[in-house]
Amino acid sequence: MELLVCPLCKGPLTLDSATRDLVCAADRLAFPVRDGIPVMLESQARPIEDAPAAPVWPPSGDAGQPPAA
Ligand SMILES: [Zn+2]
Repeated sequence: MELLVCPLCKGPLTLDSATRDLVCAADRLAFPVRDGIPVMLESQARPIEDAPAAPVWPPSGDAGQPPAA
C-alpha cells in the first residue's frame, strides 16, 4: 500500500488493526477503507473516541513496596 497522508493536515496515517480504518492521530479522525480502497474524505471520516489506549497500572513508583526503615 502506498504511503497515505491525511487530506486535512497532510500528516501520516496509521492503520487501525482492529477496525481496518486509517487513523489520523492529529485530527483524531478515522478514515474508512472500503474494498481495500481508503476513502480519504473528511465527510466519510468519523471522530475517534477519546479512550485511553491502555490502562496505566500499576502507577509508576514503588507501589506495593514496604517503606524503607
Ligand atoms: Zn490529519
